[in-house]
Amino acid sequence: MDRRKRLLRIGETLERFFGDPHWWPGESPFEVAVGAILTQNTNWANVERAIGRLKAEGVLEPRALHGLDDETLADLIRPSGYFRIKAKRLKAFLDVLCGDFGGELEQMLSGDLPQARQRLLGISGIGEETADSILLYAGGRPVFVIDAYTRRILSRHGIIDGKPTYGELQHLFMTCLPCDAGLYNRYHALIVETGKRYCRKEPRCGACPLRGIAGRDGGGKTGPAVAEPAVRRRGRETCSSGKKSSRRDSRKTGTPLS
Ligand code: SF4
Repeated sequence: MDRRKRLLRIGETLERFFGDPHWWPGESPFEVAVGAILTQNTNWANVERAIGRLKAEGVLEPRALHGLDDETLADLIRPSGYFRIKAKRLKAFLDVLCGDFGGELEQMLSGDLPQARQRLLGISGIGEETADSILLYAGGRPVFVIDAYTRRILSRHGIIDGKPTYGELQHLFMTCLPCDAGLYNRYHALIVETGKRYCRKEPRCGACPLRGIAGRDGGGKTGPAVAEPAVRRRGRETCSSGKKSSRRDSRKTGTPLS
């Protein structure tokens, strides 16, 4: 079975098993973006506590958050861990959001997709996974998010070999799957759910919905590494297939996996 079919089968199997994960939780795109920055190196429960404190203070809004002094902001997000570093990262993000876009997140995340991505990557402390999470889950842009679980699951199922880069893995998904922000949203969330519950350091294959699929216990062959990142290569709201994307509100159901 080729890699495209194997990736589709993984997605279909996970969606049948878990249903729609309705990720990312948040009452607004701005809350999603803040959560994406705070979730670095911590678990989601800690992020929820930090966001709860921001809400309780009435500052979970671009200008209000930007107006806080560094100490106050760091103290409010303390439950998320690494709070001084994260306060600096949030401030750097807010400097661009409020300074260049008048606090309008939709504007900041709109326009040419590679440019919007580069804009985020230019902010201190925002790497590829965080930038893509913000674009996909807060902006509804069709970019596939790669994380450690993605890498682990594909590797254990023989779909990748060695250590492909973030961009190579992203390119693999974005060339194999239909270009659809809703689908990317669900697929990534399903991978995270599988990783958290089953594909841990010590895998729990016996209970996992992916047991026996796509090479795991089946001797599946490993494919070669892939080429440059789809997001950088393409200049418009299209994926590697060249199809126009269903772009806005990635939370809505898009292309079905099954
Ligand atoms: S736990 Fe086992 S079956 Fe499940 S994704 Fe990981 S390697 Fe595959």
